[in-house]
Order: sequence, then C-alpha cells, then structure tokens
Amino acid sequence: MAFEGLADRLQGTIKKITGKGKVSEQDVKEMTREVRLALLEADVNFKVVKQLIARIKERAVGQEVMESLTPGQQVIKVVKDELTNLMGGEQSKIAVADRSPTVIMMVGLQGAGKTTTTGKLANHLRKKHNRNPLLVACDVYRPAAIQQLETLGTQLDMPVFSLGTEANPVDIANQAIAQAKENHNDYVIIDTAGRLHVDENLMEELQKIKTDVKPDEIFLVVDSMTGQDAVNVAESFNEQLDITGVVLTKLDGDTRGGAALSIKAVTDKPIKFAGMGEKLDQLEAFHPERMASRILG
Ligand code: GDP
Repeated sequence: MAFEGLADRLQGTIKKITGKGKVSEQDVKEMTREVRLALLEADVNFKVVKQLIARIKERAVGQEVMESLTPGQQVIKVVKDELTNLMGGEQSKIAVADRSPTVIMMVGLQGAGKTTTTGKLANHLRKKHNRNPLLVACDVYRPAAIQQLETLGTQLDMPVFSLGTEANPVDIANQAIAQAKENHNDYVIIDTAGRLHVDENLMEELQKIKTDVKPDEIFLVVDSMTGQDAVNVAESFNEQLDITGVVLTKLDGDTRGGAALSIKAVTDKPIKFAGMGEKLDQLEAFHPERMASRILG
C-alpha cells in the first residue's frame, strides 16, 4: 500500500503524544524530529520537510496547543493541518471554459500513465459531470500510442480524433477542436507525446501546441512511484509550460509518498487527481485532507 512506511512511523509517533495531558517543548522537539525523519525516509523533498517542520514547531508550542485541554490531540491536529496544507489545502476543481469546448492538454513522460489517464479523465468527466469528451491522439511518434488511445475510445464508447503519424500535432489539435465544436463535444482532451526524459524537442513541441491551442488546463501526469524524480519532472514541466495541475498515477502501488507530499510545495500547482489502478474507473479527485487522514490514521 502507498505511504505504508510513512503512515506506520507517523502513527507510532502520534501514539506517544496523543494522550498527554501536558505537552512540553521537549515533547514537541522529539515529535518533530521523528516526523522529520519519517518524511525524509518517505522521500519528501528536504526543503519541503524543513519548512513543514518549522511551521509545525511554531504552532505546536503556540497558544492553541499549550492552552488546550487536550494538548496531545491538538498537536496531532496541527500535524494533520500542515500535511493537508502541504498537499494543497482545498480540493481543486477542473476548469470549464466560457465557450465550449474546454480544452485539456495532457503532458508527461513516457510510461507515467498519460494515455491511460486521458481515458480515465474522459470517463470521469462523463460519469461525474455528465460531459461528452473528444479524445485526441497527438503522439505522432508512436503508432502504438495512437492505437492505445483508440482502444480506450472503443472501450469507453467515446470518439477519438487522430490523423495518424504523418500530421503535425498543432494541426491535429486544431482540427480536433473544430470537430468537437461541430459534434458538440464539450471537452477536448489532448494526449501529447512523451519521452523517456525531459528534453528540449519535446518541450518545444508542447509549447507550440500550448501557444496555438490555448488550453484551459495543462495537466502533468507523473508516476508517484518515481519519488524525487517525479518532483524534478514536475518542476521542469512547470517551468516550461506553466502547467495548471498534476495527476499523480500509481498511488495504488507501494509509493513512499514523497511525490504526493512535495509536488504542490515545489511547483505551487495543485494535485488534481490520483490514479489508483490500471482500470478506467480508477481515477479519484485528489483530496488533500483525506490523504493526510489516511497517512496519519
Ligand atoms: P504513457 O506512456 O504515459 O501514456 O503511459 P500509459 O498510459 O501507457 O501507462 C503506462 C503503464 O502504467 C500502463 O501499464 C498502465 O496500465 C499503467 N498505469 C497507469 N496509471 C496507473 C495507475 O494509476 N495505477 C497503476 N497500477 N498502473 C497505472
């Protein structure tokens, strides 16, 4: 299970302090030291850990805790609040364009789960928001990727726009949007090309699509299993494309949690969704508070 090690350690730390009728600065010091180690071991970015611990410390020795009747529990609440804030606080919504269709561009490295997430997101928009999306195959370098999207379209019984591997991605995107207008598809989800590593050619192509198409959302799909790499990837994509949100995939695996806990702080972009399995209905809106509760037990 994801976050297992982190959850175990934090819950152990919490147990020690929960029942305390009095919490001394020494208790807070010990608790924050353990929380710090647990977070670092879960591969959370060290700068993020430093800031988080400073905030927890400040609040934990402050009035709200020291003057509380249940200081032990109050300390835990502080840790939970701060973990929630770290992951973005409020749950963040998906954009709706003033004029239909709303255009979402999916970006990310190969293997992160971009194409699968494109299908999952379309399914989510239809099921939860009663929308009628068009999927667009803009990965012109890999015929297998186009095929994969077409298969997803068939499984979902949703239209897929493709011009094969010969056309230019900007043209494909523009023609897809024109078709969506004609056929009353209210969302257009563009599956772009991925590479094994962040590279200039890829970024240039994505920037061209962005400049021309002006998407309402740019979602970066990252694999939560890759830990700090996921955070670095998110930083580069955000610098180059000014993404609007992140989808964290493979949270059903045994990820240590570093990516989930660092990405918002490092990029200042919200985690919008979490991939919880390979199936098309295994995408969940990301709720920072629920995630913090899951980690703290
Ligand atoms: P792309 O290269 O980024 O388009 O990646 P794909 O969509 O082809 O996904 C790569 C692999 O990751 C596939 O085997 C997917 O089934 C798998 N995958 C994607 N999302 C998830 C997820 O949330 N959980 C799990 N367990 N597997 C996922």
